[in-house]
Amino acid sequence: MIEIQGVRKNYDKRQALDSVNLDIPRGSCFGLVGPNGAGKSTLMKILVGVVEDYEGDVLVQGAPFKQNVTAIKRRIGYVPQDICLEETLTARDNLLFFGRLYGLKGSKLQERIQQVLALIGLADREKSLVRTFSGGMKRRLNIGCALLHDPDIIVLDEPTVGVDPQSRWAIFELIHDLKRQDKTILYSSHYMEEVEQLCDTIGFIDQGNVVEYGTMQEVLAKHRHAAIYLEGPSVTREGLNGYEGVTARDKGFVIESAEPLRLLERIAKQFADEGIIPERLELSQAKLEDIFFKLTGTHLRDTRQEGVQ
Ligand code: ADP
Repeated sequence: MIEIQGVRKNYDKRQALDSVNLDIPRGSCFGLVGPNGAGKSTLMKILVGVVEDYEGDVLVQGAPFKQNVTAIKRRIGYVPQDICLEETLTARDNLLFFGRLYGLKGSKLQERIQQVLALIGLADREKSLVRTFSGGMKRRLNIGCALLHDPDIIVLDEPTVGVDPQSRWAIFELIHDLKRQDKTILYSSHYMEEVEQLCDTIGFIDQGNVVEYGTMQEVLAKHRHAAIYLEGPSVTREGLNGYEGVTARDKGFVIESAEPLRLLERIAKQFADEGIIPERLELSQAKLEDIFFKLTGTHLRDTRQEGVQ
């Protein structure tokens, strides 16, 4: 559906993207994963035509973006990271405004507004002022504004940052609905659990480079190895110096191993000798974020400091 060929972008002297090549299949939910500053937003802005000054090519169903900007933009719904709504208007009036921007009017516009309100789970709040909405409800409405013209490509830039659990769930449901409608979705996030749950293809991006991409199954099959997870106040990095492949995860550490049971035995013996009783010591598997760390040496999670509204 979308082919990205040798796309490079500099902002003045700062390189944001360094020759990115990716194929995004039709009807897939593609997870673009990387830490803050990796280049995700820049790539998305290029794909939706917001950033036009770049090297390389983007093709949509074989048509070069640069030569078909207006026609291709009509097929895309873009949800930027920053919420763009008029707080003093109702949800419905915001949708009316965006619908008109997309050239919709009359009964077609009214019909789409009703459909979108149902899709984003805000049908019962259509007459409420946006300023009375929670952060998550605003984000859902912001997504709705990008869906009014019924695009077949939907680009969502970190759509769940700072949202409450109920809205996060509603956004997941919405994405599942869009997948069922055979839409092509590009979803950027640094929340791995979300990507693993929602996306069927995935691209890891770090410092402007795609370091791995493929279907979720391919990437997991290639990199997912058995591992041990251990956690507890007396379990420290230094205490694990004698082991290869130790990475931090959540409140503890993960160690990959081809022989996890033997590793478990060895660690249990070491802890018993040292009088350490861990809170958790269990078999595990490398998760997406462990795989990302192994490929790049960069943690995705250290940016997860946003509060939930
Ligand atoms: P991400 O979305 O993964 O956080 P971005 O695409 O926003 O990454 O940023 C990639 C790099 O480009 C970062 O180093 C960022 O500081 C830089 N950058 C992004 N937008 C601009 C801009 N408008 N002007 C200058 N530098 C920018």
